[in-house]
Amino acid sequence: MLKLQVRRWSERPRVLLLMLAVVLPAAALIIWNVWHLRDLQREKGIEAVIQRNYQHVLAIAEKRIDERAYRMTEEIREKFPDADQPEDLESFLTTHPTVSHAFIWSGKGHFQFQSQPGMMDDPEFRGESKELSSNIETWMGIESEGYLYKLKKMAAGDGHHALITNEWVHRGDKMQYLSAAYFIPHGSSAEHPALAGFIYDPDFMANTFFPQALNEVVPDEGHNDASHPEPAITVRTSKDQTPLAASACWDGSRPEVERTFDGVFPGMILGIGLHGTTIADIGRRFARQQFLILGALSLLMGAGMILTYRNVSRELALAKLKSDFVSNVSHELRTPLALIRLYAETLELGRISNPAKHQEYYEIIRKESERLTSLINNILDFSRIEAGKKEYSFCETDVADLVRSTLESYRFEIEHNGFHFEQKIDTNLPPLHVDREAIARSLLNLVNNAVKYSARDKYLGVYLYRQNGSVNLEVVDHGIGIPAKEQPRIFEKFYRVGDPLVHNTKGSGLGLSLVRHIVRAHGGEVTVESAPGHGSKFIITLPVQASELQQEEAVSA
Ligand code: ADP
Repeated sequence: MLKLQVRRWSERPRVLLLMLAVVLPAAALIIWNVWHLRDLQREKGIEAVIQRNYQHVLAIAEKRIDERAYRMTEEIREKFPDADQPEDLESFLTTHPTVSHAFIWSGKGHFQFQSQPGMMDDPEFRGESKELSSNIETWMGIESEGYLYKLKKMAAGDGHHALITNEWVHRGDKMQYLSAAYFIPHGSSAEHPALAGFIYDPDFMANTFFPQALNEVVPDEGHNDASHPEPAITVRTSKDQTPLAASACWDGSRPEVERTFDGVFPGMILGIGLHGTTIADIGRRFARQQFLILGALSLLMGAGMILTYRNVSRELALAKLKSDFVSNVSHELRTPLALIRLYAETLELGRISNPAKHQEYYEIIRKESERLTSLINNILDFSRIEAGKKEYSFCETDVADLVRSTLESYRFEIEHNGFHFEQKIDTNLPPLHVDREAIARSLLNLVNNAVKYSARDKYLGVYLYRQNGSVNLEVVDHGIGIPAKEQPRIFEKFYRVGDPLVHNTKGSGLGLSLVRHIVRAHGGEVTVESAPGHGSKFIITLPVQASELQQEEAVSA
């Protein structure tokens, strides 16, 4: 018992060690990931990354919008009247509807301001024109030198010939943002310096310029959905939360990241947000997805580990059973062979004169060779079954007769061994379709076990009787019995109960697995009822053929 347990325990740490070698690194990786994710979640790391990316997108957007504004201004400046032809301002305005007002300044008292003639009917526009004209004239008086200096510096620096800036004018009780361009007109000279400029139509800027510029930065890809939300960019003035213009995907929500224009549109603010979702939502969804993936991975790993553990344990147990089997079988073969040899040699020497002794020795030699034969038959049957080559030859058989004749040759020996042998065989049993040899071998295996595993109370009972649709063959002993938890396993190949009483008895662990195979091949079943110290009862149930049952029914009717 002790030896057996020591062996079992020496296998378990090996399996556990093997499992740990895989589980520990995998578990460490999962735990590290969970930790990392929780840190990311706590510090809003994912949101921060998205926000940084958005700042970057807004910086690019501003640069593109600036370039577009410079290009457009440059084209208009090319067509602007010369410094000494202020009277051409009106026709310039008529051909440039995107411009609301234009002016030329060429020294104190020489200021020409002209507004879009077609719009002068609008009193608000007239007011705007008046306010601008007086503001700009005042500015020119004070700042003209500063402007001239700045413009020359710009032309020498980044090559831009216009200074794009803004003007605020009153529109009712609100302030209107206007984009203005200042430049040195053709015809301006060192002796007669001149400045010119124009104001863009605010409706054109809001409805055409900005939407086109924004859509160029974030074009509408047309596959905006909840899993791939597209970003939308808006532009507003610092005095108003409502956007002036927005790119196509804008869903009306407030932008999540903003950036104030540095150069061309001072006082304008760019904003970016996602269609139909928020950055916080994306962060949450990302974290949830990662946690789910990690959870699923952990589950898979756990299930894999359990499966591997069970498989490896089973393989190790089978390997152990096989090695036990080899040693048991060699032992079983050696003992009868040694006895046969010993008694044969003794007889050969011719020293024994007592004829009764002769008889006894012959008997021993016969019995031992019979044991050898049955062991070898078991092993051969087993290997045939394992190779899937076991064949049965079924024929109609009187089972009562088969059982009786099988037991007959053993009765003397059993009783000789001090057993009380009881045999109850019902008459009138229907003939069964069985393989005679296989059924006889099954019975002998059960009888042998009953004899082997009986200690003081030596009783052997064999009963054959009819029960419903089957014929039952019972082998009963009053021997050592089998613990309940071992009972399901004794029919497995190589399995022997881990009891010292059993281990001191010769055996290969094959007998019952053969019995079960044979009985199942006959469409029946073998079961056991047993309790330690109270003996065992093995019951083979063999089905009666349907044709027999019908015949019986017909007779009884
Ligand atoms: P073995 O060659 O070991 O007898 P078996 O397959 O015939 O192999 O039986 C398997 C195990 O079942 C035995 O080792 C023994 O522990 C137990 N066993 C079988 N029959 C009996 C019985 N009649 N009484 C007690 N234990 C039994």
